[in-house]
Amino acid sequence: MLPYSTQAIEEDDIAAVVAVLRSSHLTQGAKVEEFENALADYVGAKYCVTFNSATSALHAAYSVCGITVGDEIITTPISFVATSNMAIALGAKPIFCDIKMDGNIDENLIEALITPHTKAIVPVDFAGKPVVIDVIKAIAKKHNLLVIEDASHALGSDINHQKIGSFADMTIFSFHAIKPITTGEGGAVVTNNEEFAIQLKLFRSHGIVKKNLWNSDMVCLGHNYRLTEFAAALGLSQLHKLDRFINIRETIVRYYDERFEHHKLFTIIHIDASEQSARHLYVLLLNPELHCVKEEIFTELQTRGLGVQVHYKPIYQNSFYKERFGEIRLPNTEQFYRSELSIPCHQKMTMEDAVYAADIILEVIENAYRGCSF
Ligand SMILES: *Cc1c(COP(=O)(O)O)cnc(C)c1O
Repeated sequence: MLPYSTQAIEEDDIAAVVAVLRSSHLTQGAKVEEFENALADYVGAKYCVTFNSATSALHAAYSVCGITVGDEIITTPISFVATSNMAIALGAKPIFCDIKMDGNIDENLIEALITPHTKAIVPVDFAGKPVVIDVIKAIAKKHNLLVIEDASHALGSDINHQKIGSFADMTIFSFHAIKPITTGEGGAVVTNNEEFAIQLKLFRSHGIVKKNLWNSDMVCLGHNYRLTEFAAALGLSQLHKLDRFINIRETIVRYYDERFEHHKLFTIIHIDASEQSARHLYVLLLNPELHCVKEEIFTELQTRGLGVQVHYKPIYQNSFYKERFGEIRLPNTEQFYRSELSIPCHQKMTMEDAVYAADIILEVIENAYRGCSF
C-alpha cells in the first residue's frame, strides 16, 4: 500500500532517540529547548514552545490569549476537528467561514462574520498552501483581533521566502507521524510575543514556576502537555531533513502536475510562484459529473494499493457540531468536500511510485467516468 502520506525515519533519527534513552533525562532536559531554538530559528520567530501534540498546542494558544466562554473564533470547516475543538474546550464558539477552491479560508468572507464576541481569526494552511495572510492580518488589525494560524500542514511553507510561523500572532505546528516532520506525537506554538511564550510554558506544565530550592508556586491552572526528550531528539534530527523532504515531495508534485494538468475530469491546485508549499497533501478535485462515483473511485484506488484519503469532512457536519450549533452548509466547502481526493505524495516515494500511482489514478478515474450513467 502506498499511503497518501507517511513518515521517513532514518538510522540517524533512531540513533538520536537511542542516545537520549541512554542518558539521564527522558523528560525536562536540554533536548526540548534545543529543538525549540532550532524551530524558532528555522521559521524566523522569536519564541517556540513545544507540546505533546498540536491539539494541546492549540488548546494552550487559545487559552493564553484569553479565549473563554462566550467568545467566538472565525475559522475554516476544512480542517481536522482539533482546530475548532480546542476553542470549544474553553467555552468559545467556532464561526465557520467558507473556503476557496484551493481549500483555504476565503479571506474576503471573514469581515462579515466579525461580531463583538470575536476574539481571533484561525486560518489553516490547507495541504501546506499558505493562506492570504496579509489580508487576514489587515482585517485582524482593523478589528483588534488576534491571528492564530494552524500551520499543522505547513512547516517549511513560505511566502516570498518568509516562512510560515513568522506572520501570525501565534502559529501552531504538528509533529504527528505523517505531518511534514515527526516526533511520533508532538506540536509547537511559535510567536514573537514574549508574554504569550511565558504563559504557554505555564499552561504546558501545571502553571508552576520554580522559586528557590524546593519552593515552587502554582500561579495558574496548567496541564502536563510536555514533549519528551526522546521525542525532541527525533524532532531535531527530522528538522535537519525537512528541506530535503520538501524537495522530494516537490519532485513528485511536478511530475503529477505534468500528468494531470488540463485533465477533463478533475482539476489540481496550483501554488503561486512566489510561494512554497510544504506539500503535505497532493489534492485532486473531481469534476461534478464524477461525484456520484467517488465512492467507487476511492474503493478501487484502495484496492489497487493507493492509500487515498479525503480531507476533510466539513467540521460542521460532525454530529457533535450539528447538535450544538445546528445545521450549517457553506457552498464552496460542500463542493470542495464532494470533489476532494488526496493521493500519495511523500518523501519515501520514488519516481517509479509516482508513475505507478499516476497511471492507476488516470485509469481508475477514466474507467469510472465511462461506467457512469448520466
Ligand atoms: C494534524 C492536525 C491537527 C492536530 O495535530 P495533532 O498533533 O495530531 O494533535 C490540527 N490541525 C490540523 C490542520 C491538522 O492537520
